[in-house]
Order: sequence, then structure tokens, then C-alpha cells
Amino acid sequence: MLQQTQVETVIPYYERWLNKYPTVNSVASEKIDKLLKIWEGLGYYSRCRNFHEATKEIIKSHNGVIPNQFGVFKSLKGVGNYIAGAVMSIAFNQPYVAIDGNQQRVIARVLGIKNLTQRNRKRLSLYLSQLVNYGNSGDINQALMDLGSSICKPRKVDCTHCPFRLTCKAHKFNDPLGYPIIIAKQKIPTKRFAAMLIRHKDNIFINKRAESGLLGGLWELPNVEIHNGSKSKTLLKEKLGCRFGCEVKVGPKLGAISHAFTHFKMNIDLFDGQLKINPKLKTGEKWVAFSDIDQYAFSKANHKLFELVDVSNG
Ligand code: SF4
Repeated sequence: MLQQTQVETVIPYYERWLNKYPTVNSVASEKIDKLLKIWEGLGYYSRCRNFHEATKEIIKSHNGVIPNQFGVFKSLKGVGNYIAGAVMSIAFNQPYVAIDGNQQRVIARVLGIKNLTQRNRKRLSLYLSQLVNYGNSGDINQALMDLGSSICKPRKVDCTHCPFRLTCKAHKFNDPLGYPIIIAKQKIPTKRFAAMLIRHKDNIFINKRAESGLLGGLWELPNVEIHNGSKSKTLLKEKLGCRFGCEVKVGPKLGAISHAFTHFKMNIDLFDGQLKINPKLKTGEKWVAFSDIDQYAFSKANHKLFELVDVSNG
């Protein structure tokens, strides 16, 4: 949960999760739809799917016991060096590093590293390996992460309260914020989509996204990506008509929303719509009452679309 996500955001999700799923077995035996519902809003949904797969693997191949060998643990779905290092050091007190962005920044400043070249990353990792070899590796890893999030922040430092103040090179050079050099983020592209609210009696049509890829396994209103020069209504009519095998009547625009992911921003126009006939539902397609949508996991962007809808005007 903590990958790419701040602690304050994670805490309520973590507590809800542990209340409902306190054991490996309770996660492994749950349906992915239910897990995604608890994860709803936290983003990066592949973490949830991978965690589910990893728990199933622990039950199947490790008798339900979390492996305490770095290599074996790392072979679980979704686990890389960072997670394996964090679990081995924090849960099993083994001398492994868990280098996150905070640790990297703190140690770069301590060692006076300006450029995070491959060679300098190795220096950094070696320094951390020596630190965790002193013992209490879990405490050291967590302390460095906390130091980076509270005292040695990207744009603000409090060197007088830092345990590294006597040896830190960036502090000695009186230029803590100059280390390491931050590469400016590239501007992210914006993609356009058109979505349709298809109503039938008191129900609306939703479909499930493919399990892999962005927002995999979540539910959504049917939508199409609009490329340069295409008209939203025409594309919705063509593509959804083709998909449902019947004529699609695209009604008035109900509104528009914007949502930003890490690597792109999306603008979505929402249209009212109707199908000429009631199509035969395929797997992953449903008619649901508006009052029941909270039983399904949707992305934040889809929840923003729901806010545009006047349900009483069915
Ligand atoms: S002394 Fe200052 S710059 Fe150095 S690690 Fe501590 S807070 Fe960061």
C-alpha cells in the first residue's frame, strides 16, 4: 500500500484491510472483486491483484507461511528488491536495505552526491548495506525513511535536529537542497475520452476492465478514447454500436471531468445514451441499480462521472 502512496492516505485503508483480512489465508481465499472494493480509491490496483496472487502462492507452495528467505520472498508476484528488503529487515531482522526515495535523498545528502548516476547509486547502496549490517536493520531502514519524510525533505530541511548533522556533507557545504540534483518532471500528456451513461428502467450499464493493465479488474461506464479530429458522439455511436451489435442513441452531454494519473491526465465527457435493443450480456457486463453501485469497485475518475448524474431523472 505504501508504494507511491503517502502514509496518511494509506492508514485508513490499512486499518480497514487488517480488520477484514487479518491473515494470509483470509486474503488468499477472498474474491479479487471484494479486495478491489476495499482498495478502491487507493490507486495502482495492480498492487492489490499482485498481493492476492502472492498470498495464494504462499498458501499453495509455502504451507501458508510467509517465506523468510530474500530470494524466495522476492519470487512472489509483485515483489521487487524494495519490498523484499523491507519485509526481510522489518519482519525478520535480516540485514537487507530497502531503498525508497526518502532514503536515497537522505544518504545522497550525507555523502554529498549530486548526480544519481549508476556508480553513485552503487555507492549509496553500499553505504546503506554497511549501516544495516550493524544490526537492527528494520529500525535503521524505517528510521531513514522517516527522517526523509519529516526532517530531510525534498524542499525543506531541519539540519539542527538531524542525527547526521555532524557528518553530512550537504550540510557542511551549506547547500542541503542542492543534493541530489532533481531532474524536472516531464509534462504529462492529456488524453480525451467520451463515456456513456446507458440507462434501462432503473438500471445503468457497467462493464469490467481487463484484469491486466491500468485500473485492471475495476468496473466502469462504457467509454471510448477520442483521437485528434474525431467527434465524441460519432465515435460513441460507432464503437459502442459495434460492440453491442445494435443502434446506439447518444443523448445530451451530462458534463465533463478531469483526472490525473502519474503518467497522463484524462478529460472525460459524459453523455446520456440508450440502446435500441437490450443486448445479451457478456462476461464482465452488468445492469445495476444506481443505488447498488457501491457494491462494485470503480476508479476515482468513474466516481467523478457518477457525481455528474442526476439519478432522479431516470
Ligand atoms: S544534516 Fe541536513 S541535509 Fe544532512 S541529512 Fe540531515 S537534514 Fe538532511
